[in-house]
Amino acid sequence: MLELGKVFNRKFTRRDFLKYSSSLAILLGLSEMYVPQIASALEQIVSKKQPVIWLNGAACTGCTVSFANTNYPSVAELVLDRLSVKYMETLMAASGEVAEKALDDAIAQFKGKYVMVLEGAIPTKDRGIYLTVAGEPFVDKVRKVAEGAAVNIAMGTCASFGGIPAAGPNPTGCKGLKDVIGGTVVNIPGCPAHPDWLVGTIVNVLLFGKTPELDQFGRPKLFYGKLIHENCPRRGGYEQGRFIKSFGEELPDIEGCMGAKGCRGPVTSADCPHRLWNSGVNFCIAASAPCAGCTEPAFPQEFLYEPIPEVAKTIKAGETDKKKSAVGTFGASLGGAIAGAAAAAGGLYFAKEKARYEAADKSEGV
Ligand code: SF4
Ligand code: SF4
Repeated sequence: MLELGKVFNRKFTRRDFLKYSSSLAILLGLSEMYVPQIASALEQIVSKKQPVIWLNGAACTGCTVSFANTNYPSVAELVLDRLSVKYMETLMAASGEVAEKALDDAIAQFKGKYVMVLEGAIPTKDRGIYLTVAGEPFVDKVRKVAEGAAVNIAMGTCASFGGIPAAGPNPTGCKGLKDVIGGTVVNIPGCPAHPDWLVGTIVNVLLFGKTPELDQFGRPKLFYGKLIHENCPRRGGYEQGRFIKSFGEELPDIEGCMGAKGCRGPVTSADCPHRLWNSGVNFCIAASAPCAGCTEPAFPQEFLYEPIPEVAKTIKAGETDKKKSAVGTFGASLGGAIAGAAAAAGGLYFAKEKARYEAADKSEGV
């Protein structure tokens, strides 16, 4: 049995435990009132550790790194100490037949109770021969593990929607988990996924006995309920039509919007602006990089360092207007025009992606 708390070589005190219950309340969007309830639920979780089986498909292992890369006691680290990860290729000490036996034993012993976490896409072309583990096509292994799981979670954009391994021309026929197994899959996309998104989802399942409410792409609304654009610190620049034209450019008196540099914030759902990354340090847009839309099914294919088409059109129209109008009126009219165009762009994008995602339910997978 792999206990990740031991991998991290840490012991937790009672004080850590209480701080942990508070952090979880915040993570799950609950008030402090729930802390005692969370603490008592955790006591039960500790006494019967939740089994987890973590499979690694076609990916860079960045989601494992994101999840494990903590430099002070974090919610992820503490929760991992409460989980019992039965199989995880990248961190387990066992290998070969011993590892495969551990997997088979875990499936048999915890059938219907374990959580499966898949990291990475699933190569499906030519019966899945482009990725085999212990002589078995990975796609078959995924199906076998998913069949006995209480909850199936796709960690990261590759596991959720295919991501980088499925980008054109996709010679190995890589697919996301739902495209292969159908049914209910909790998608935790991101390149990589934020550790809180996975931890919060598992804790939600443990505390309330069910998966959190999901959006149209199978993502927990708790973390993916709002567009990046809605909470962006550069939103003022956007509303006033103040766009940066080159990276590192600083505009006087305002943080310039990155829409002209291809920012996909208007069509990307995630809570990065207030969750922040690297233990709460920063996130892409605040660090002067446009949002690449890494939590969306269209990533990475549709991310270009160019404005999304409708915003580009509106920026151009605004520049023409600017020549004709006083600066004060330009900002207001351009802001409104862009908001309308971006909303229309978002509507089209979501309709197209939703149709594709729902079709996966009816597909045979491989
Ligand atoms: S387009 Fe991007 S940088 Fe500009 S306000 Fe929206 S999310 Fe922020
Ligand atoms: S800001 Fe955009 S690209 Fe950056 S992590 Fe969040 S969703 Fe991904």
